[in-house]
Amino acid sequence: MLRLTDIKLPLDHAEHAIEDAILSKLKIQKSQLLGFNLFKRGYDARNNKNIHLIYTLDVEVADQDALFEQFSRDPHVRITPDMTYKFVAQAPENMTERPVVVGLGPCGLFAALILAQMGFRPIVLERGKAVRERTKDTFGFWRKKPLNPESNVQFGEGGAGTFSDGKLYSQVKDRNHYGRKVLHEFVAAGAPEEIMYVSKPHIGTFKLVNMVEKMREQIISLGGEIRFSTRVEKLDLNEHKEVQGLHLSTGDYLACKHVILAVGHSARDTFKALHEQGVYVEAKPFSVGFRIEHEQSMIDQCRFGDNAGNPILGAADYKLVHHCKNGRTVYSFCMCPGGTVVAAASEPGRVVTNGMSQYSRHERNANSAIVVGITPEEDYPGDPLAGIELQRKLEELAFSVGGENYHAPAQLIGDFLAGKSSADLGEVKPSYTPGVTLTDLSQVVPDYVTHAIREAIPAFDKQIKGFAKQDGLLTGVETRTSSPICIKRDADYQSINTKGLYPAGEGAGYAGGIWSAGIDGIRVAEALALDMLEQLPK
Ligand code: FAD
Repeated sequence: MLRLTDIKLPLDHAEHAIEDAILSKLKIQKSQLLGFNLFKRGYDARNNKNIHLIYTLDVEVADQDALFEQFSRDPHVRITPDMTYKFVAQAPENMTERPVVVGLGPCGLFAALILAQMGFRPIVLERGKAVRERTKDTFGFWRKKPLNPESNVQFGEGGAGTFSDGKLYSQVKDRNHYGRKVLHEFVAAGAPEEIMYVSKPHIGTFKLVNMVEKMREQIISLGGEIRFSTRVEKLDLNEHKEVQGLHLSTGDYLACKHVILAVGHSARDTFKALHEQGVYVEAKPFSVGFRIEHEQSMIDQCRFGDNAGNPILGAADYKLVHHCKNGRTVYSFCMCPGGTVVAAASEPGRVVTNGMSQYSRHERNANSAIVVGITPEEDYPGDPLAGIELQRKLEELAFSVGGENYHAPAQLIGDFLAGKSSADLGEVKPSYTPGVTLTDLSQVVPDYVTHAIREAIPAFDKQIKGFAKQDGLLTGVETRTSSPICIKRDADYQSINTKGLYPAGEGAGYAGGIWSAGIDGIRVAEALALDMLEQLPK
């Protein structure tokens, strides 16, 4: 097949326009076109009066070689690459050793799935509950029930992304096309087919719950085993620093030599235990700030003009960056069109915000994190775990200023810019539950964060008219943007000083988002499988 890229058509084009564009691009007759598939569809809305769809199409033509020859110098006509996933290993039938996957977020889920599909019968250990029970705990907390530190937005089957917007894109390099495998498996588990071709796919929270269950069933049907409410507390290491087994919160001991550690960015107790055992951990940069909320209709109007509401475009998103005079960078992160701000704490006495949406993205408000990049060198020097302590301090401040009842501190944008405490809400109603306490948010973050965000919001208003409007809302505090640590690994994907331990996913510093965590899970599962086969007696 030939892959045609950059085929531009108007937003409201007729159905036959795609075929016409192929014939015109390749200068062929209809009889020479044998068929075509949609590989990608994006849009260019830079001029919202003239929005274009941009297609990548895989085209089957008669006499492909001759035609390709004619276009060999055209970068927009290429041979379609083979992007199908190929397993790198197959476990022999008599294999007794079983790999262990710690954590059933997207990274652990894909690591376990690939291992199971290759016949390695993984054992998965997950500290939280199965996704349906976990949903009850999480939604219960949002409705003022007590926080369960082992079952919440961060912990439990499906991992941190289960109650999310389910955005499935990132800027990771994916030369082996693992990302297609992730999308294929999601579709097989019930995700909408369109995630295979839209340029910014998303799934929404409720669909994710069902998909995670289907994927779990597949792992079990292939011989895998999943143990919920089982937290890994400590590694058992021999004198050569090789993994011999795991000590579990159930009091059990699990002997094993190959462990994928996919515990996410909130497993602070696990990070501490690993560090104390001498596993090499170093501090890494992350970002802190607030969630910002506006009416979605304002964002749609600004981005799409008269085309706002067009079903192909859906609810509009944005991506904003501002480099401040004080040397800090402020950017929007994890934007959730038509969504809600969620309570994302996993530890008692701390308040953390994040965002989620349903597949429809039909809620009244748009939200995103507006965060400032911080670094260990400048902001939390010394101890490798100092970033965690900074996160905790900010989350405790947010809890205290919020009223010590898990209400989040919030402030109107206009008041934040003017440096005065908020007293009344305006048009933009907060979506965060259990509730918000209007206050002065500069109390909960360091001054450099306040100053940087105060400078950035008016700059963002130049790109999205109304972004700095008085009654938009800021809610705090957003601290779990990525892992504050990195568990360094070598080219063989094992910890640089602990043999048999495969740090993976977001918590270890190797992913940022659902899709990239899934990709990393596949990558690490492959490395582990090959190592296990190599160690078999010849
Ligand atoms: P996690 O998903 O964090 O999974 C780690 C798992 O390990 C958890 O289930 C945890 O319970 C378990 N665990 C931890 N410690 C232990 C232990 N000691 N023993 C056993 N189990 C343990 N990303 C996107 O790409 N798109 C989005 O739209 C999006 N929205 C988000 C919305 C919210 C509310 C949140 C919180 C996150 C969102 N993210 C989103 C980020 C995304 O969820 C993470 O990047 C992703 O889940 C990381 O995957 P992971 O598997 O590495 O870790």
